[in-house]
Formats: sequence, C-alpha cells, structure tokens
Amino acid sequence: MAHCQPTAIQQHRLPAHAYDDRMNLLLTINRAHGVGSTMPPTMQPPLRSLDSSPQLPSHADVVVIGGGIIGVFAAYYMARRGLSVAVVEKGRIGAEQSSRNWGWCRQQNRDARELPMATRSLELWEQFAADSGEDTGFSRCGLMYLSNDEEEIARWAKWRDFARTAGVTTHMLSGREATERGRATGRAWKGGVFSPSDGTADPGKAAPAVAAALMRLGGSVHQNCAARGIELEGGRVSGVVTEAGTIKTRTAVYAGGAWASSFCRQLGIRFPQATVRQTIVRVPPMAQQLPDALHTARVSVTRRSDGSYNLAISGRGRVDPTAQLLRFAPQFLPMFAKRWRNVFPGGLEGIRGGHESLARWGLDAPTPMERARILNPRPDAAAVKQTYERAVELLPALGHAGIANAWAGFVDSTPDGVPGIGEVWEVPGFILAAGFSGHGFGIGPGAGHLIADLVTGAEPIFDPAPYNPARFKQSAWGKVADF
Ligand SMILES: Cc1cc2nc3c(=O)[nH]c(=O)nc-3n(C[C@H](O)[C@H](O)[C@H](O)COP(=O)(O)OP(=O)(O)OC[C@H]3O[C@@H](n4cnc5c(N)ncnc54)[C@H](O)[C@@H]3O)c2cc1C
Repeated sequence: MAHCQPTAIQQHRLPAHAYDDRMNLLLTINRAHGVGSTMPPTMQPPLRSLDSSPQLPSHADVVVIGGGIIGVFAAYYMARRGLSVAVVEKGRIGAEQSSRNWGWCRQQNRDARELPMATRSLELWEQFAADSGEDTGFSRCGLMYLSNDEEEIARWAKWRDFARTAGVTTHMLSGREATERGRATGRAWKGGVFSPSDGTADPGKAAPAVAAALMRLGGSVHQNCAARGIELEGGRVSGVVTEAGTIKTRTAVYAGGAWASSFCRQLGIRFPQATVRQTIVRVPPMAQQLPDALHTARVSVTRRSDGSYNLAISGRGRVDPTAQLLRFAPQFLPMFAKRWRNVFPGGLEGIRGGHESLARWGLDAPTPMERARILNPRPDAAAVKQTYERAVELLPALGHAGIANAWAGFVDSTPDGVPGIGEVWEVPGFILAAGFSGHGFGIGPGAGHLIADLVTGAEPIFDPAPYNPARFKQSAWGKVADF
C-alpha cells in the first residue's frame, strides 16, 4: 500500500502574483494606520502541523474522509469504542474551514434544531481536554453581544426566553450593564447579552489536537491523501479508493465540508449545498486586555489562545457564481432572501477552487480534490479594510499592531442552515456529515459523537432526526435557521 507523502503539500500554495496582491493589500492598510514597520503579514491562518501515519491500512472498520473538525471528532469517538479508524485528508488536518473560523463555540442564538448539539458539545470540549491531555484552546470565556438597536436587543430577549425552556442560561444586559461590561469600547450601549457558559476554542490547534489524540488511540491519519470515491459491492460500501490505494471497509463517513455535494454526485446522491466566501483579519498578540469574544452588528472580535485577535463582520460574505450554485439556486432562495443584506456577488474564486463543479470523475486518475489540496480563497479586499477599520473604531487598541494575517474560507451551507448528518439510504454504509452552515466548529464534538453513535448503533447522544439528509428530498424541509 502506498504511503501518502506529507511533504507533497505544495500544491495549495498561491501563485506568486496572487500572493503579491494580497501582501500589498495588507501592507497598504498597515501603512495607512502608521504600523508599516511590523512583520510582513501572511495569507494563511495559523495551524499546528501534524505528521501522518506511516502506512495506509489495507482495511479499517471505518474510513473517515475529510480531516476537518467533524471528521477528526467522529474518528476519535469511534476509536474510543475500539473500532479501527483511518482518516484520509486531501491536504492538511484542519486546513480548510476548521482553521479559518472565528473559534466561537456557542449556544447563544442557536436554532432550536441545533441547540441540544451545541449544549452537549460544550461539555465534550471540556471532556476531550481532560481525557486526552491535548490543548484545543477551549475555554468557557462567555460571549458578549452589545447593541444600540432596540429591535436586535428584543430578538436576543426572545431567544433568551426560548433558551430558558431548554435549560440554557443567558443574561440580558441593561444599558448600564452593557456599557460597564463593554467598557473597553469606551462608549455607551443600549443593551446586550452575556452567555456565560459559551466559549471559544483555538481553530489553529483544535483539529490537529483531536487527530493527535486519535492516533494515540490507534487510529491512523493520512494527509495529502484524497479519497477519489467509494467502491460498492451489492450496492453497499465495500471500500474507499484513495490516490494512494484502496482501503477495504463497510463504513465510510464523508465529512468533506465544501466538497460534499460534488463528492456525493459521483454516487448519484443529491445533496444541495452552496458556499459563501467569508473573510477574517488577524492582529498579533497584544498586552492590552480586550474582551475575549465580542459581537456587535458592525464587527466582531475574538481572542485566540496566543493573545492575538480574529476580526470579522458577522454574516458578511461573497457568493461566487459556480455551476453548482446555479443548479441549487432555487433551494437557496429563502436563505439568500433572509441574509441578502450581508451577502454580495463574488468572482472567480469558486470556480478556481473546483469544489462546486458538476464534473464526473473516474477513480483511476487525479480528481479535482488532488488539484486543490487546500481551499485557500482570496480574502475580499473591501472586507479586509472595512473589518480592520471598524474593529479599530470599536477597540482602538487593536490599531497599534497592524494586521498580521487575512484569509478567507468557504462556509458550506445547506438550504435550511442545519447540517446533514446520517446514513444515506441509497448507499448503505455511506454516512454523510456536511453542510455545517457556519456553525460546525463549536458543535464539532457533538456532531462527531453523534456520528460514532450512528455507526456503532449506540443510543444517540441527542435526537438525530433534525439532521437527517433525507429531508432534502422533500420539496419543503422547514424554516431557514435564524442565525
Ligand atoms: C470565516 C469562517 C468563520 C466561521 N466561524 C465559526 C465559528 O465561530 N464557530 C463555528 O462553530 N463555526 C464557524 N465556522 C464554520 C466552521 O468552521 C465549519 O462549519 C466547520 O469547520 C466545518 O468542519 P468540517 O470538518 O465539516 O469541514 P472542513 O473543516 O472544511 O473540513 C473538510 C475537510 O475535508 C477534506 N476533504 C474533502 N473532500 C475530501 C476527499 N475526497 N478526500 C480527502 N479529504 C477531503 C478537505 O480537504 C477538508 O480539510 C466558520 C467558518 C468560516 C469559513
């Protein structure tokens, strides 16, 4: 069986001209803020690197395709139950959405369908650290929301009333309390929310930490190793064909994030999915004590475990026109109608990525997934500038150090904003776990645990019904998630 070479992860590197464009943008913004002498910015999020297992196995009880937070947590919980598990990842563990996000692990404002998964996940983040000794950067630091918009504050109060019925505590803040808690902003606020049991984990640490724990349990991890497709015998999964050879198995978990719809298409499975390209800016560690996790309508700020800060504008993104987007556009109209204020037409990044092509591919030649080892799309230049300026306006201390990095990620969405998790009945043995719709990092442990429950036939940790991918076969699948 061939060995997937970790050293061959060169192909995701940007062409020189694209690199220069991005670098110039960040340097120009830094100079405009008088911080031109800092270290040159970079265009990738920080991410712990991990060595792959030496040898691809010829057989495994379960093969997990995709080494993002969902795939590694699913593999970890299955390995804890004694199953032999191999994770195949076409690039690096965590290098797509799972290292590109804000790091929020929240119940606050969650849709009713996802709240049980969010609540259990917070417990599991803590449990994982205690059991494995690995550092994911998770802490229940609490999340703070501040506003001067009475309608927004009223929406939060409505959610608080609903959350109480589910046993979740969140505190509405009066104007005085919001101003006091948000004193780092130096301004008065009409109100806010503080959710003390929520928290953040570090996207640069989390997925590799879980993969490392999995390997200590005997699971194997193969980076730079794309799964090209699934082998079937009598209609059931009998193997996963990778670029380095085939692993015989009766169960394949597909946790491929933005690639899910095109991978499913090869198996005749229709999974409506669309991606939105979102941009994040990071400033280097600083001595000043700023809020750990602060959301305002104009900008949100999150402290990373090294003391640096992620800056982003909530919900803002670009939709790149692709063949897949056109195909599923009717299903996504309710979602875009709800979120149109923050979603703008994009450009060619979606086509360049190759994840939304309608192409069919064979299993005996390189696939689009081998051409795009890591989706590293161009950040939106206007968003980088606006995000940084709004953040400095909100918390002036952020202006002292300049921008360290800016990057983008494709958020993979389903039409109702709720993930698809479950066995696909057309292909027994094929478990889909994708479409996490911008929420998958925080709920990664719960989703992984649920997948392990489904695979082993254990009692599910929470009701899996809302996530059943079969719902997309019906003409109506329920309301679009609010947040
Ligand atoms: C800018 C941004 C901000 C976000 N903020 C938050 C937040 O604060 N909180 C939160 O909870 N969520 C957030 N999210 C969403 C969250 O990051 C995702 O929902 C979550 O990371 C999804 O995890 P995943 O494992 O499903 O996908 P990914 O992390 O994208 O991983 C999928 C992996 O599968 C691999 N893969 C795909 N196909 C194959 C194949 N055929 N063979 C081998 N490997 C394959 C890919 O290379 C990739 O590494 C944010 C996302 C973005 C982009």
